Amino acid sequence: MSGDPESPLAPALYLVATPIGNLGDITLRALDVLRRAARIACEDTRQTQKLLNHYGITTPTVSCHEHNERGRAAELIAEIQRGNAIAVVSDAGMPGISDPGTLLAAEAIAAGIPVIPIPGANAALTALVASGLPTAEFAFLGFLPEKSGARRTRLEDLAAAPREHAQTLIFYEAPHRIADTLADIESVWGPNLRIVAARELTKLHEEFLRGTVVEVRRTLADRDRIRGEFVLLVEAPTHIENAGAPGPESPTWESITARIARLQADSGLDEKEALKRLARETGQSKSELYRELQRERAKRK
Ligand code: SAM
Repeated sequence: MSGDPESPLAPALYLVATPIGNLGDITLRALDVLRRAARIACEDTRQTQKLLNHYGITTPTVSCHEHNERGRAAELIAEIQRGNAIAVVSDAGMPGISDPGTLLAAEAIAAGIPVIPIPGANAALTALVASGLPTAEFAFLGFLPEKSGARRTRLEDLAAAPREHAQTLIFYEAPHRIADTLADIESVWGPNLRIVAARELTKLHEEFLRGTVVEVRRTLADRDRIRGEFVLLVEAPTHIENAGAPGPESPTWESITARIARLQADSGLDEKEALKRLARETGQSKSELYRELQRERAKRK
């Protein structure tokens, strides 16, 4: 399992997984490598220092993040070629998964240096296994684009992709964007899509919100503030099921335009008031409904 704590490690690039919240989620082998490496390349040295202090590890650290990874790679590879072992860690989880480390690994391989993975915690897989969604086929897609237009286009492309079997799509998402992302997911796949929002994994307030996209959206809309880190999992239907999902061509789907028109006719509200009422009823924000209304109107032109 672990080597002699006094003996030096074989020179190589060691990609070491660290905890995603609970400090206990680190392997004995990872601790051994972090102790015996000549240096630890960290995404954020201050963040990693907390982990090292917790385990009494005194190995020197050096920063290696998205802005300096290229320059640092040459330096670290030269150090390995001189016979030293270099460990690489990100702030949390597996290096290289929506985190620095990929470039370093590729450069080390190109230089003929052994690259040794030290597996451990990863937010995507941790969320997947407890989600209750299919695990036989899944796709990890990292972060969606931040801008609404680009995000919609990406989701529409994913929904349109041919799929032989239902597949779980896994995204990382920030708390301040989760509501908008869920609104986009609902408008692309319809309200009945099965999703899971996994929050604060391995931490004190770990939570899995499971249900249809509309149910999860309501739960989150009822909260004063949405906190914590999220993994979002979506059960993408096969392209045959998808063809029957609620959408602009489906009779069960009612456009925002139609819903606004009905509210106006039934209650004599003007458009602004009808939007406000609809926002209350659906848990969507007014501005999001307004954007959707504009999109529908633009499509009709
Ligand atoms: N390298 C990491 C891994 O292996 O999972 C991912 C790093 S990525 C920059 C950070 C994102 O991962 C967060 O924004 C969140 O979406 C997800 N994440 C990380 N830790 C999490 C946790 N404890 N609970 C839920 N999501 C988490």
